[in-house]
Amino acid sequence: MTPTRIAVVGVGKIARDQHLPSIARSSAFELAAAVSRHGSVDGVDNFTDIETFLKERRDVPAVALCAPPMPRYDMAVSALKAGRHVLLEKPPGTTVGEVEALTELAREHGVSLFATWHSRFAPAVEPARQWLFGKTIRHVEIVWKEDVRRWHPGQAWIWEAGGFGVFDPGINALSILTAIVPSVFVTGASLEVPENRKMPIGVELSMKSLAGFDVDAVFDWRQEGPQTWEIRIDTDAGALVLADGGSRMSVDGEARPDGLEAEYDGIYERFAALMKAGKSDVDIAPLKLVADAFLVGRQVDVEPFHE
Ligand code: NAP
Repeated sequence: MTPTRIAVVGVGKIARDQHLPSIARSSAFELAAAVSRHGSVDGVDNFTDIETFLKERRDVPAVALCAPPMPRYDMAVSALKAGRHVLLEKPPGTTVGEVEALTELAREHGVSLFATWHSRFAPAVEPARQWLFGKTIRHVEIVWKEDVRRWHPGQAWIWEAGGFGVFDPGINALSILTAIVPSVFVTGASLEVPENRKMPIGVELSMKSLAGFDVDAVFDWRQEGPQTWEIRIDTDAGALVLADGGSRMSVDGEARPDGLEAEYDGIYERFAALMKAGKSDVDIAPLKLVADAFLVGRQVDVEPFHE
């Protein structure tokens, strides 16, 4: 099989940590170019803007957009209009409406759009979904607490409008939740916003399912020491705990075998399959929960945050 040429756009933390290594390991893709204003990748064509890349490298049919959500919409529109298949990092957009618009544009141009949710590819997520099958869920509790200074050093965009604040990691929990339990909707939220920032540093979120259970979530960026990314699901057949962001699973305290650790390799496999099948995969369920949290959320001012 001849690998599909792909370009990475936005050479920052996630591009370097995950996308470039996964593309290098993939037999389905071959890195042909990189587009970034400041970053670059050795051994391939480098561009500083996407328009020039799209004009000069018409032989590259796919792009992975790894920039933050705010500049990503315009990049995606340009790439889709130029007939390229597009992979979007999470979150897929700053609003629900723009992601729906991109979905429509991909359909019009007959190309694949893949809105990725990397946490859904974590090794224990699919085993958890399967374990839950046929069981009655009584309650879900999500605790997602990490140290923003450790995971997002110097990332000013994350505090700007459209940058999601603590929902940037929190939406990973919501992407797992919406993949493994029946649909839920937001009933209330409290958003703690530092006086000198635009986006929340802490969130308490209440959700409900038509199936009858409640979901309580806490996202916090002020956690020093051990980090917590945990989802606990109480059922009629025991308590399932997904720990370490979906990497490990236990039932009533007993560890269960999980799948292989291959989040981004799994993402590129899926992108290749979507392109081959001429399909798109855009699930806005996690984004809708965040949007609704901002709609009903009560803002609480908290002390200024300094790096
Ligand atoms: P980052 O380190 O800030 O890198 C993003 C890159 O995008 C920047 O280096 C920048 O490169 C480019 N860019 C283009 N326009 C930009 C703009 N207006 N503002 C800022 N950067 C711009 O961010 P990241 O951590 O890689 O996150 C990027 C996306 O991946 C986010 O949506 C995030 O949620 C997601 N993600 C991140 C992680 C993680 O662990 N960091 C994990 C999973 C997903 P140039 O300046 O060279 O153009």
